[in-house]
Amino acid sequence: AISIQNLSKSFGKKRALDNISLDIKRGEMVALIGASGSGKSTLIRHICGLETGQAGGSRIDVLGNPMQDGGRLSAGARQMRRNIGVVFQQFNLVGRLSVLSNVLLGNLGRIPAWRGTLGLFTRQEKQAAREALVRVGIPEVAWQRASTLSGGQQQRAAIARTLVQCSSILIADEPIASLDPSSARRIMEILAAVNRDEQITCVVSLHQVEYARRYCPRIVALRDGRIVFDGPSSELTNQMLVELYGASSEELI
Ligand code: ATP
Ligand code: MG
Repeated sequence: AISIQNLSKSFGKKRALDNISLDIKRGEMVALIGASGSGKSTLIRHICGLETGQAGGSRIDVLGNPMQDGGRLSAGARQMRRNIGVVFQQFNLVGRLSVLSNVLLGNLGRIPAWRGTLGLFTRQEKQAAREALVRVGIPEVAWQRASTLSGGQQQRAAIARTLVQCSSILIADEPIASLDPSSARRIMEILAAVNRDEQITCVVSLHQVEYARRYCPRIVALRDGRIVFDGPSSELTNQMLVELYGASSEELI
């Protein structure tokens, strides 16, 4: 579903991504781990078409179409972005709108702009939004303002919004970083269920390695912008973690 070739990116002198090549197949669930500053968010922004790599041989294909080539976004990139559901650490909901309205906003890429702006959604779209809220386990808060939800509920609403988007790829950048352990587990279970039941390809960046090991069959680890491990989560050794995180890794193991 996602193919990255020879992707490098520098910010000034800082090399954020250093010749990354990575293939993610349709239906995979992949965790992206690495210390702070290792390049996880930068890589995710490239996959989503929000950032372009260095000129040269770099290339990113998503669902068989070029997203960027030689450091330039492709002509179809804007359209392709709509096929990618994105969830961030900050939930990016519109606080003054109801939860249901926020979920309905997931339709924006697929419907005429005027309909979205006026909040005119079809009965099917509303039904789909309610079903998405059932799917993530918060149907009872549909009419509440988004700003009144707990962090875990907001993250679930954000996932529901990507579900109505009908994307076949879901990318989450530290979706559980600001959640308590039980909310974090719920979110990971929802992502795993979405991946399993709908064959949605999931790429999730995580600080907490234990969650990556528990929920993601494949782990890709970054250090200083390079991939230093890519394989089954069962093969990620504690020794590797020490190399990734240094002394602080003791609390991770
Ligand atoms: P964290 O776990 O803290 O979120 P990360 O793995 O997501 O870290 P990135 O945010 O991808 O790391 O950053 C990788 C490197 O690139 C860091 O050194 C960061 O300072 C640098 N960087 C990222 N974005 C920018 C930017 N827009 N301008 C300058 N430097 C940047
Ligand atoms: Mg980050």
